[in-house]
Amino acid sequence: MVIPALLLLSFQYSAEPPVQVTGKKPKNIILLIGDGTGLTQISAGMYAHGKQLELEQCTVTGLILTHSAKHLITDSGAGATAFACGCKTYNGAIGVDKHKKPCLSILEQAEQQGLATGLVATSSITHATPASFIAHVPDRADAQAIAADFLKTDIDLFIGGGMKYFNARSIDQRDLVQELKDKGYAVYDYNQSPLNALTPDANKPFAWFSAEEEPGQIDEGRDYLPLAARLATGFLKKRSEKGFFLMIEGSQVDWACHANDVPRAVKEVLDFDAAIGEAIRFAEADGETLVIITADHETGGMALEQSRSPDSLDITFMSKGHTATMVPVFAYGPGAEQFGGVYDNTAIYTKMRDLYGFPVPEKSN
Ligand code: MG
Ligand code: ZN
Repeated sequence: MVIPALLLLSFQYSAEPPVQVTGKKPKNIILLIGDGTGLTQISAGMYAHGKQLELEQCTVTGLILTHSAKHLITDSGAGATAFACGCKTYNGAIGVDKHKKPCLSILEQAEQQGLATGLVATSSITHATPASFIAHVPDRADAQAIAADFLKTDIDLFIGGGMKYFNARSIDQRDLVQELKDKGYAVYDYNQSPLNALTPDANKPFAWFSAEEEPGQIDEGRDYLPLAARLATGFLKKRSEKGFFLMIEGSQVDWACHANDVPRAVKEVLDFDAAIGEAIRFAEADGETLVIITADHETGGMALEQSRSPDSLDITFMSKGHTATMVPVFAYGPGAEQFGGVYDNTAIYTKMRDLYGFPVPEKSN
């Protein structure tokens, strides 16, 4: 049955109202995005894990609506741009509003305010989710243009794949890996320097490439997400006395669900949850860190159905694409109380901005 949902699409979104912050404010924010990780994916991870997930330590839960400016079903570019900039935009947009104008991201605002900043992903670092926090490109497919935007910032740390978009470019002859080094970055790649063998020098910004293109699946030996979460939090804490903003993406839950691959989806959820555990342990020890866990959308219309045996589940998919179902938000630490309730994905940005105490940027949309 098709239901009209015109109400949402015809509604003109205005800027989210400022958040009334009454409790303790966080100095650091770690935003963890499970791409395609809806409530069913998390439930599947819980049942498969056989013990509590790390994210269950969160004290507050909420739900967000994920639709983009013109589509009830978002893509990861519009979804991440809503988190990064607080505006609804079109599917495929990277850090630009619906008129294709650049929107100032929470990462850029953090940088302007003297905080340290970082991005970690299990995809190419130029992929839609991390890209939306640092780049301003009308089309998510322009990975080389996205890579070039990294050089326009002073991001303190990034970890992910996609090295070829930096150093084997067809749109220009720039070697962005060399340019990063010239800017003072310590740049490492997966071949020479496994992440677990590195102790980064906090006096230099840090870049680690996990793959030439996209890192492989967990089964092929990719196990860096929890490690990267631990390294990034410790590193960023040393980089600025004013605090930090860090986005960590479990990128491949989405890919596993597009492929309707249940074992891989569960493994990716548990890998993401292990990174959540690292973030929460850091926040617990630090006492000034807010951890937010959410998803850009659900993927696959995953369902947990009765199997023949009463103590097992038959995990099925309704779709090969994204769905419009609301997705959960979990929060831990100072400011977590702001994240209960039902709200729009753009409010994730507003809440972070107001908890940091950053100014409201001049609106371009
Ligand atoms: Mg993604
Ligand atoms: Zn997807």
